[in-house]
Amino acid sequence: MGSAASDARSSVPSGPVRTCVGCKRRDSLSALVRIAVVLDEDGGARAVVDHRRRLPGRGAWLHPGPECFQLAEKRRALGRALRVNGPLDRSALGCDRTTIDRPTGRGTSPRHEENRFTNS
Ligand SMILES: [Zn+2]
Repeated sequence: MGSAASDARSSVPSGPVRTCVGCKRRDSLSALVRIAVVLDEDGGARAVVDHRRRLPGRGAWLHPGPECFQLAEKRRALGRALRVNGPLDRSALGCDRTTIDRPTGRGTSPRHEENRFTNS
């Protein structure tokens, strides 16, 4: 049918979208990871990756990978998005090398590298 008319919006993903708190770009839910806050017993706030997207409370959405995480850090966007007034423990996210996994594991697993390490 007449699908050529919708070409102008081809960059907008269909389905639910969220805004990444790092780069501020909108993307589909499946391309983002949810960051949620859990409270420790002493009241400290800790940011965790909500892989199953089932944790209660507010969530912040972020592209997987260090770039958007660092952008969010610069702006303190995580604390704002999660409504945390005090210090936010982000160690669970992996500050320098982000441990955020891509929600959809596309591509091949690097088995060759494992073999290299066991060779020594
Ligand atoms: Zn982003």
